[in-house]
Amino acid sequence: MDQVDAIVVGAGVVGLAVGRALAQSGLETIVAEAQSGIGQGVSSRNSEVIHGGLYYAPGSQKARLCVRGKQLLYELCASHGVSHRNCGKLTVAQSDAEVAALRNLQDRARANGVPVQWLSAAEAREIEPALHCVGALSSPTTGIVDSHGFMLALQGDLERAGGMVAFGSRVDGAVLGRGGQPHVIRMADGSELAARVLVNSAALHACALARRFEGLPANLVPQEYFAKGNYYTLAGKAPFTHLIYPAPADAWLGVHLTLDLGGQAKFGPDLEWLDVTRPEQIDYTVDPRRADHFYAEVRRYWPALPDGVLQPSYSGVRPKIHSPQQPAADFRIDGPQVHGIPGLVNLFGIESPGLTSSMAIGEDVLAMLEVAT
Ligand SMILES: Cc1cc2nc3c(=O)[nH]c(=O)nc-3n(C[C@H](O)[C@H](O)[C@H](O)COP(=O)(O)OP(=O)(O)OC[C@H]3O[C@@H](n4cnc5c(N)ncnc54)[C@H](O)[C@@H]3O)c2cc1C
Repeated sequence: MDQVDAIVVGAGVVGLAVGRALAQSGLETIVAEAQSGIGQGVSSRNSEVIHGGLYYAPGSQKARLCVRGKQLLYELCASHGVSHRNCGKLTVAQSDAEVAALRNLQDRARANGVPVQWLSAAEAREIEPALHCVGALSSPTTGIVDSHGFMLALQGDLERAGGMVAFGSRVDGAVLGRGGQPHVIRMADGSELAARVLVNSAALHACALARRFEGLPANLVPQEYFAKGNYYTLAGKAPFTHLIYPAPADAWLGVHLTLDLGGQAKFGPDLEWLDVTRPEQIDYTVDPRRADHFYAEVRRYWPALPDGVLQPSYSGVRPKIHSPQQPAADFRIDGPQVHGIPGLVNLFGIESPGLTSSMAIGEDVLAMLEVAT
């Protein structure tokens, strides 16, 4: 049986960032990807926002990894020529209750070490004349990135460090090694590969895959849930230069306006909990009947949004590890200190801000495995 130092399952943005970190530490690393290209899962169905890091509970993995990942992402964009724009974001309040919510967000941002600035309605309108709000929180470190360009840069670094992505390589399961033995990874084509390090970065498939790791107690694998986010694009040009977000609700940032690098505006994602148990059952079609809700949400901050300009676009699905009734869960990066199995890391619930956090997750996984040279 062939053996390598490390196998990472999944060539999304997180798997690529982890693979890069492992390869750059000197480990012979293969990223096993079921599809024929990089980033064909959650990583190609998101908002492409470099999040500032203001929303997440101080001390949480999301807060720490988002702030660190943002810094690493901006640095990599600069050093590798990845298209991005540090356009900034306004989170807007429409009522006294929402002002209070934004003031809490301001405190949270400070606790997370994220620079923010309070704007009165007049100050907000000065920089975004089409905006309606009674106050706004400006996040100058928020930006947008060409996520595919970012993933190509990660793949390039991985390969330069001697690693590779094996496409069309679906991992079926593994027998976990104990007592110094490597893990034996079972591929869908029946072949087997041994590795001392195994990182499960399969996103929507991560929980199901972890249940097929022989030797991992079942109680250490969370129940997965799937929550779809639908997007609508704007026909025509938006009169905004910043990203615009409403005051957030739990587990969801609200129907926000984001811009892509070409200046095209899109609205979303909304939050639609899916009644499916496996990712294969997901229907990614955007239902045009959801448009009414989008018009109502967007007109709260952009009252002049004309009729008939929102067009159903794409959708993405969040790999959740909490039910609709439970509070939003933190990222789970389950290493040996959680399950006691040397060389194994399971990544669960890597929803937003996973794109922003990806390189920081790579750093954490490396540190967790104590393989840094
Ligand atoms: C609607 C939406 C909007 C978002 N917006 C943002 C945002 O603006 N900013 C931000 O920071 N984050 C955002 N996120 C979060 C971010 O997109 C994800 O956290 C990130 O893309 C997850 O990357 P990943 O590598 O874990 O997953 P994926 O990209 O899904 O990669 C997992 C890979 O594993 C492969 N795979 C699965 N099972 C196997 C197997 N058994 N064998 C081999 N390969 C396998 C899949 O084919 C896939 O390529 C958003 C998420 C959603 C859903």
